[in-house]
Amino acid sequence: MSMKIHILHMNDVHSHLENQMRVGYQLRRLRESLSQRGEPVLTFDIGDVLDRVRPETEASLGRLNAALLGSLSVDGWVFGNNEGLTIPRRVWPELVAASGGTVYGTNIRDESGSPLAELTDVFIYDLKGIQVGVFGVTPSYPKPYEHLGVQVLDPVVESARAVRMLQQMGAHIIVALSHLGLGADHSLAKAVPGIHLILGGHTHQLMDEPVYEGQTAIFQVGKHGVAFGHTTLVIDDATHQLQMVEGRAVLPTVLEKVDAQMMQVYLSHWSEIDKDLDRVVCELADALKTSLDEESSFANTLAGILQTEYCADVGIVVSGLLCASLLQGVVRRRHLHSACPTPTRPVLIDLSGAELWRVFERGLQPGFCLQRGFGFGFRGSVVGHLGLSNVRLEAHREVDDKVVVDEVVIGSERLVKTRIYRVATVEYLWLSSVLPEVHEGNNVDIPPPLVRDLLMERMNHANIVRDARFTCVHIRL
Ligand SMILES: [Zn+2]
Repeated sequence: MSMKIHILHMNDVHSHLENQMRVGYQLRRLRESLSQRGEPVLTFDIGDVLDRVRPETEASLGRLNAALLGSLSVDGWVFGNNEGLTIPRRVWPELVAASGGTVYGTNIRDESGSPLAELTDVFIYDLKGIQVGVFGVTPSYPKPYEHLGVQVLDPVVESARAVRMLQQMGAHIIVALSHLGLGADHSLAKAVPGIHLILGGHTHQLMDEPVYEGQTAIFQVGKHGVAFGHTTLVIDDATHQLQMVEGRAVLPTVLEKVDAQMMQVYLSHWSEIDKDLDRVVCELADALKTSLDEESSFANTLAGILQTEYCADVGIVVSGLLCASLLQGVVRRRHLHSACPTPTRPVLIDLSGAELWRVFERGLQPGFCLQRGFGFGFRGSVVGHLGLSNVRLEAHREVDDKVVVDEVVIGSERLVKTRIYRVATVEYLWLSSVLPEVHEGNNVDIPPPLVRDLLMERMNHANIVRDARFTCVHIRL
């Protein structure tokens, strides 16, 4: 005789709350019908359920998203990079409590190397005598995690440790919740024998059914709540051996109802969220303009805030990080959030004067601003124009439209090509190859908080906004 254990799983919802509530409606109904048949069900979220691109998540710092998981009665959750890198560590215990499930941090430790009290390394669910052992791993980004009060250890090494522990504890089945990405899941399966099933995320593949790497089944179901996964483990009653893994993606349509309990949770959070988004950031005497193809005061303001906050020599951003101008008058948090939705972090690097010169010249070429911005958390369309602070560029345009920089002044002094300058920029420019010199920058530091948090805190600094209105770039024809 065999028995079935069902696992319902979501990954990379990224705060697509409407879709999540549709998924929730179907998931809850399916779970009820399976339970009525007497078949055990586990519900898991595999990370990046939240995304600060969404105002409700920004205002609640993910508390709403965690409460939605709670109302869906998840049994387990593993943090993705969005939870780990964009939600302050001090809020994590609240998120864990609100989710009501076991939150896995098998490769997460505090600064001293100790496990975090609110996270769990391994856990065994006893389902009608079958011991299902679970652990959960998140991707390691050593630099960005450096100042966040946590260490993310090598996921493969920690997975091997978790498997050994679960085997010693008597687990019959071992399931990994992995926010590492599909390629990394294959590597994990090869490197660590003994995992029966890896439920994944991060790389957003919408798979129709599990694939196998050796004896390990691997499955993930897309992104943004377009689907949830229904994976069934068929287990021999007598031997407790896994006989078969079946899986499918369940795709609700837009016509599907939303889950009433999740909607209730959403509504109960709304007035707090609305109050937060309504808070006044500053009052602008004049509009702050964003332009994708010419220098603009809002992009320069962003560069100015970064440069002054970290006492850098130069601030460099791109206007594509901004999606709207700010109007004259009162600016509220909701305005700033919609104008700057990208949850990118500040990055400090060292560049030589010669490298800086090349960055400026590259950024001023006609095609630069029209390159498509992609990946690394970028939430705009094209890369846009350079936004600068504490720099003055003199340049001329040649007959073939090429722009040649003639002079660079940093502060009040001419740039020295052999000198090393401290540059404040954003994670997107450091991670992507839009400006190769920035990507290769030395002495990298990624201080908290998010760039947008800095904007919220510092926009009322009249001097920065005033300076940003002066043009940094002068191109003679
Ligand atoms: Zn991710």
